[in-house]
Amino acid sequence: MWIDSLGRDELVVEHQRQSANYEALVDAELALNLTRGKPSPEQLDLANGLLALPGEEDYSDPDGTDCRNYGGVEGLPALRAIFGELLHVPTANIIAGGNASLEIMHDLIVFSLLKGAHDAPRPWSQEPGVKFLCPSPGYDRHFAICEQYGIEMIPVPMLEDGPDMHRVAGLVASDPSIRGMWAIPNYSNPTGAVYSEDVVRELVSMPAAAPDFRLFWDNAYAVHSLVGEPAPVLDVLGMAAEAGNPDRPYVFASTSKITFAGAGVGFFASSAANLEWYLGLVGKKTIGPDKVNQLRHLKFFGDADGVRTHMERHRELLAPKFRAVIEILEDRLGANKAASWTTPEGGYFISVDVAEGTARRVIDLAAGAGIALTAAGSAFPYKNDPTDSNIRLAPSYPSLGELRTAMDGVATCIVLAAVEKALARHDKS
Ligand code: PMP
Repeated sequence: MWIDSLGRDELVVEHQRQSANYEALVDAELALNLTRGKPSPEQLDLANGLLALPGEEDYSDPDGTDCRNYGGVEGLPALRAIFGELLHVPTANIIAGGNASLEIMHDLIVFSLLKGAHDAPRPWSQEPGVKFLCPSPGYDRHFAICEQYGIEMIPVPMLEDGPDMHRVAGLVASDPSIRGMWAIPNYSNPTGAVYSEDVVRELVSMPAAAPDFRLFWDNAYAVHSLVGEPAPVLDVLGMAAEAGNPDRPYVFASTSKITFAGAGVGFFASSAANLEWYLGLVGKKTIGPDKVNQLRHLKFFGDADGVRTHMERHRELLAPKFRAVIEILEDRLGANKAASWTTPEGGYFISVDVAEGTARRVIDLAAGAGIALTAAGSAFPYKNDPTDSNIRLAPSYPSLGELRTAMDGVATCIVLAAVEKALARHDKS
């Protein structure tokens, strides 16, 4: 980094300069928010057609099911077929639920703890300990579920093509208390990494010490490409079956970032045995999902191409925002190397690594200037970023103008925090 080459006097001058930049930023009295990956109002508008569907006289699906009534816990077959095609899963292996895939993930963990999967020797709650591998940085809400239920999280480094498989394979083969691993295979939250085919093959075929080891395969961003050619969605269920581990993957997806984040449809895909087990338990919780909402989605999209075309509209809104963030990072922090960042080709986030030991300070500085960033350490189990260097940026919600202003401000905070740190180091030595 450029500041490493500065002597004390130069550092003091630089500190004064950057502090003045920061004061100017504070004086601007901004109120901007880059915390959560929410779709912007313009993105939500793309799906406003849903609000008038299915229509007053229109309540039957193509199989003749009256969607107003109870029943059909596995969801509407015609909608399952569309998302099955997008996820490369046969219709029989995918079910459509309520509005949140996170709820299905949560339930699977709770069911596993209380009842145990069909191939588990006993419920996890009766085991001496349960652990999950957590590729990190990762999704804070995955980690929050584990924390909530006392599942010990073991971080493993997230690389450009998936988790560090050397670590993963060694741990899963040797420790029977490791019952699961979180995975966001396409356009991971927050780095944007896409799991390579080699990584996926190894994950489905590696030996596991636990008989009921599961991959929690959260394909939340399967169709959320920011470039022309989306990354392939691999047939993880087929690959797992071929490798002799058909029950290993639990696949999740939803329309939360396709239609309405608060009123979409969540999906769960898995082996026949896993689905039978899950539906038996979920059938005690509900007599059926919101089929009218499922019908609405079916009519809105028509088919899988309808989803793909809709995602192009999202891309037109999102891609310029991601480009703007990368451009500002490059302009402000490229030459001085005050940070490094990912350049995702899909998903909702950009992961930035600032000077070690300064992420918390950057986030505090930004807050002081009216720019809300995701809390420090959020992308790590127990919110513990071991090097205090990671910041997750969510560019989707603000307007392009607000985003540029916010990012310029964030860059100012990153540089100031790095200079402060260098000065303190200098004074200590
Ligand atoms: N998984 C990941 C990786 C996400 O980033 C998000 C939303 N931020 C979700 C799941 C939430 O999905 P849903 O709305 O279907 O619960």
